[in-house]
Amino acid sequence: MTAGATPTAALAAKRMMRTYADDRIVFTHGSGAALVDENGRMWLDFLCGLAVTSLGHAHPAVAEAIADQSRRLVHTSNLFLTTPAVELAERLARVTGWPDARTFFTQCGATANEAAIKLARLHGKRQHPDKVRVVTLAGGFHGRTLATLEATGQPEKHVPFAPLAGFVDTVEYDDAAAMTAAVGPLTAAVLVEIIQGEGGVRPVPTEVLEAARLACDQHGALLVVDEVQTGIGRCGEWFAFQQAGIEPDVITLAKALGNGMPIGACVARGAAADTFGPGDHATTFGGNPVTCAAANAVIDVIERDDLLAHAAERAAQLRDGLEALAATSPVIAGVRGVGMLVGVELDAPVAASLEQACRDRLLITNAVAADVLRLAPPLVVTADEVDLAVAAIAEAAEAVADDATCEER
Ligand SMILES: *Cc1c(COP(=O)(O)O)cnc(C)c1O
Repeated sequence: MTAGATPTAALAAKRMMRTYADDRIVFTHGSGAALVDENGRMWLDFLCGLAVTSLGHAHPAVAEAIADQSRRLVHTSNLFLTTPAVELAERLARVTGWPDARTFFTQCGATANEAAIKLARLHGKRQHPDKVRVVTLAGGFHGRTLATLEATGQPEKHVPFAPLAGFVDTVEYDDAAAMTAAVGPLTAAVLVEIIQGEGGVRPVPTEVLEAARLACDQHGALLVVDEVQTGIGRCGEWFAFQQAGIEPDVITLAKALGNGMPIGACVARGAAADTFGPGDHATTFGGNPVTCAAANAVIDVIERDDLLAHAAERAAQLRDGLEALAATSPVIAGVRGVGMLVGVELDAPVAASLEQACRDRLLITNAVAADVLRLAPPLVVTADEVDLAVAAIAEAAEAVADDATCEER
């Protein structure tokens, strides 16, 4: 669909800042893994709004929680307490397995990471006034605010906004020795993902995570794991750190936490949990009762419907299907990722064409790197939907291969 093809798209072209693609499809409603566009076409959503709508679109329990809370109370500010936020913090203590967990709520992933970075600075500065540095991984992604942009290990994103503050040290994502060497007495935190989502669904080697944990312990720094994309069941367990077998001091959450409602969280344990005191950090909308009510419903539904187990079965089915394709397709080389966060590795930098060929078949995926297609289906996806998606990807890959052969001739 081209820009201006519908009244909505024409108005957007005139009135919205041009930070996103010009030719976006307009969706009007959805259910589960299905999305309907304004022309009435039904799509299969294997991206979940970037790993957000893990319970599918318009989940009845989440819709009910939002509607119910919005009829009682939508906002009070943090001068006052509301129950949904406190109940959510209690649920997060349970699913992290951290009996001493404390949570600070935000609106999104970047602001959850901002909270974690400020917390780590306070924690560091109590040991030494210059203990504010943060070690991150090349290829990582932590957000687009100024501090999280700097922590994002993609230098091309820094260039237009330089100079940045200069408090970040970046090491290769797979170099444990470099991690050990980078952490020193002035390091306040190591901030990493367990699987780099935006970085191309790249799992960070366990040795690097273990080196980070050890170095943080030696130097009094906090290990902050950014679970914004990997958390809330996306990778099989509640959190990817639980699978990796390392214990962070702080995790950050957002994306799937509210199934689409804008909520983020910075969850800490141990000394990190007691770092912030009154006045140290705040945000007007943080802990909003409606977004927290949605998140409480998300956690309850995952538990009630045993969705971690269901998703594990569907993830295995998806991986088997894609691996079978990789064995025969001239375009698909392999499959990586964990659970429902999948990277389809391609033989050539054709991910954008493959994404488009999938869209031509009404399947939503995402070219996360030149040679990687990202899939993040909802945890509630059905076996039939997984079969449909694999069949559509097979056809799309054939179309892309045919195009490539035509170009060679
Ligand atoms: C998406 C993402 C963020 C940023 O979240 P926003 O809600 O867009 O601010 C941060 N970290 C990771 C790992 C992400 O995937």
